[in-house]
Amino acid sequence: MTMKKETRSPEKSERAMIEGIIEGSPDAVGVAVIRLDCGCRKMAAVDKEGEPASKVIMYRDMAESICEQCKKDNGDFRRVTEQFISWVGPEPAAPVKEMITGKVLGTREPYTN
Ligand SMILES: [Zn+2]
Repeated sequence: MTMKKETRSPEKSERAMIEGIIEGSPDAVGVAVIRLDCGCRKMAAVDKEGEPASKVIMYRDMAESICEQCKKDNGDFRRVTEQFISWVGPEPAAPVKEMITGKVLGTREPYTN
């Protein structure tokens, strides 16, 4: 693992997946990218209401299938190392993005405490 500053932008391989997802999801305003500690990825398109605009896609770079762990727990959120939404241009306004982000990714960070 090399140190790099936190960019929250898709890696090259993720970008290709994102483009594929967007192509199949005309309503998508962005794609949620969820990185798991095992190296697998979970992705799903979201629409402007923060609702899923595609089914959740799981994949693993350079591999035919996801790892055994993911097959067991389906990419449990406790193993998420990073998550963000890659927006499709033109990006929604900031409050909309916030709403969508909260709706799609918010479950991991409860508001209590
Ligand atoms: Zn995995």
